[in-house]
Amino acid sequence: MVRFAKRLDLLDGSDIGDLLRLIARPDIISFAGGLPAPELFPVEELKQAGIAVMEEMGTVACQYSSTEGLPALRQKIAERMEVKNNIHTSADQILITSGSQQGLDFAARVFIDKGDVILVESPSYLGAINAFKASEPTFIEVPTDDGGMIMEDLDKILATTENVKMVYVIPDFQNPTGRTWSLERRKKFMEIINKYEIPVIEDNPYGELRFEDEDMPALKSLDTKGLVVYLGTLSKIMVPGFRLGWVCAEDEILSKFNTMKQGADLQTSTLTQLQANKYLDLNDLDAHVNKIREVYKHRRDVMMAAMKEYFPEEAKFTYPVGGLFTWVELPSYINTKDMALQCLEKKVAYVPGGSFFPNGGKNNCFRMNYSCMSDEKIIEGVKALAEVIKANLK
Ligand code: PMP
Repeated sequence: MVRFAKRLDLLDGSDIGDLLRLIARPDIISFAGGLPAPELFPVEELKQAGIAVMEEMGTVACQYSSTEGLPALRQKIAERMEVKNNIHTSADQILITSGSQQGLDFAARVFIDKGDVILVESPSYLGAINAFKASEPTFIEVPTDDGGMIMEDLDKILATTENVKMVYVIPDFQNPTGRTWSLERRKKFMEIINKYEIPVIEDNPYGELRFEDEDMPALKSLDTKGLVVYLGTLSKIMVPGFRLGWVCAEDEILSKFNTMKQGADLQTSTLTQLQANKYLDLNDLDAHVNKIREVYKHRRDVMMAAMKEYFPEEAKFTYPVGGLFTWVELPSYINTKDMALQCLEKKVAYVPGGSFFPNGGKNNCFRMNYSCMSDEKIIEGVKALAEVIKANLK
């Protein structure tokens, strides 16, 4: 009889597993995924970049390379963070990872011993919750509202809780809610963090996908004590399949992430780093991101208009000013996991909200994604969903 580690009992992959099976069925209109739109991938440009790399430096591309990542790519990332996020950093403070997901995994391994406390927004990103669970933490959920994490609650929790080792946040177009923190909240957050000196993981995969209003400064740009570990990624602005993300942190913290990287996989693929770097040399990423933004903004508009028209007023939903998601809250007597099965009969899918709360207990919400679908499908799917919601109202 094979015996597995106890920590596996903590990992619940079932929702994600169900989800992937649903997305795979072609007859389902799935708002369940979080995938970038494939028709926007710059396949031809990446192909040319790949050919150029193999022709110009084929043996280098096929060889091992440094754990921290390709210097030229790290340099470009540092420059982009300066321009886009107002973060003053350098290539030395960047570690290339296999997607930002790997940065999340490392964060827990670097900061968390069994039983240590992680503060997260309530709700928070399921993939982070699952990555953190392997380190057997205690989660405390900090309440949120439309402006993001509620700072009075954060302050209270930090004042009264021992052993808080890390705070994990997604201030821009959050997964799953689509919400964005206001400037006041960001400043207040850093004030509180500076008081308690707790490391912060700022996860920002969607920050460049803003559809309207002013850019908000990254928490890292307001960090005066080197407490913020910033996670970035090329997944949503270029392609997710390359698995290219990065960690930006001050030297001592970054060196710990580097140690984890060595143990995990030595380095991120030399070839994909070189190919991405060449793509960035040959193409205008800003122009590409603008294109993505326009398409997603349009789909956001279509989904919001359809929800306004067809959803009953008991269904409250967020208005995302960027990113990929909106979050729906129904009356507390409706269980969205049960309702998902009724939706399947109508051939429409979403992600039930329960799994986004690490301590459970809130089952009347769900997440919807709008990035990946035609206008017609969005409208048809929202209509079907509205029928099911109405049938569940008392
Ligand atoms: N953080 C958040 C909030 C996400 O939504 C995702 C992917 N959906 C990730 C991290 C991981 O992205 P990647 O590993 O592709 O960079």
